[in-house]
Amino acid sequence: MEEYHDYLVRALACNEEVRAFAVTSKDAVEYARKIHNNSPIATACLGRMLSAGLMMGDMLKSNKDLVTIQIHCDGPLKHVLVTANDNGEVKGYVSNPNVILPPNASGHLNVGGGIGKGTLTVIRDFGLKEPYVSTINLHLGEIADDLTYYFAQSEQTPSSVGLGVLFNKDDVTVKAAGGFIIQLMPHTEDSVISKIESNLANFTSVTDVLRQGKSPEELLEIVLSGFDIKFTEKKPVFFKCSCSKEKGLIVLKSLGKKTIDEMVKDNKGAEVVCDFCGKKYEYTPEEVLSLQTETNCKQNS
Ligand code: ZN
Repeated sequence: MEEYHDYLVRALACNEEVRAFAVTSKDAVEYARKIHNNSPIATACLGRMLSAGLMMGDMLKSNKDLVTIQIHCDGPLKHVLVTANDNGEVKGYVSNPNVILPPNASGHLNVGGGIGKGTLTVIRDFGLKEPYVSTINLHLGEIADDLTYYFAQSEQTPSSVGLGVLFNKDDVTVKAAGGFIIQLMPHTEDSVISKIESNLANFTSVTDVLRQGKSPEELLEIVLSGFDIKFTEKKPVFFKCSCSKEKGLIVLKSLGKKTIDEMVKDNKGAEVVCDFCGKKYEYTPEEVLSLQTETNCKQNS
């Protein structure tokens, strides 16, 4: 079996006053880049979202739950969507993977310019119950700070989020990716808060730490320097899509009777391409016909 490289750790610090997550996600982000043919800005944007998704997936209570993070924006990236679960599986895409922009004022990839103004929505789906949906306006469009704002605003949890994607010398392929989330529990003492704030003030960037080849554990040791850290979980993480031919059929069905009738008339079968992983599912004219019969039965019943 191939050894995994990407993994997530969860930790507690300061008598459980602080909880923390850190992840490396190079393989997942590079895999997404390859299947979607993402430009560097799309890679940086989706990479940050994939790392955040993995950590927020780990916050879910049951392994049947799902968390989805969505950005709808007026920048050229338009729409970014990531879905993760508690099993360390994440998938995602950028609706416009070809975006290329000049570097920003500090000479970095202009992810903020690719996003612009818009909203960030977090959907937590607990299976049977109504999903929990919360939307905030994007403030900075660089994702990590917007998620920090989301946690404070929507979950009343003071947090700090750091995310980064580091490229190889070719400026296209991914050398490293990852991030952290630090969260304060309601009873956190002021002295702890100010120590963390001072640590964060001295922290350069996740990308810088990744450049030094640091692990998720080491990333948390830097951000929570001076605290006793108790690591409570370590698990591998992956880019994984759960699409199938059957699920593609549900997509076809959702197109409605009129479209299906037209497809039957054309007699060319149908094709469904998964947004998340780019996999193509083909359906024969007979399969489309059986779909039509099914829709007709439903309408008559
Ligand atoms: Zn798929």
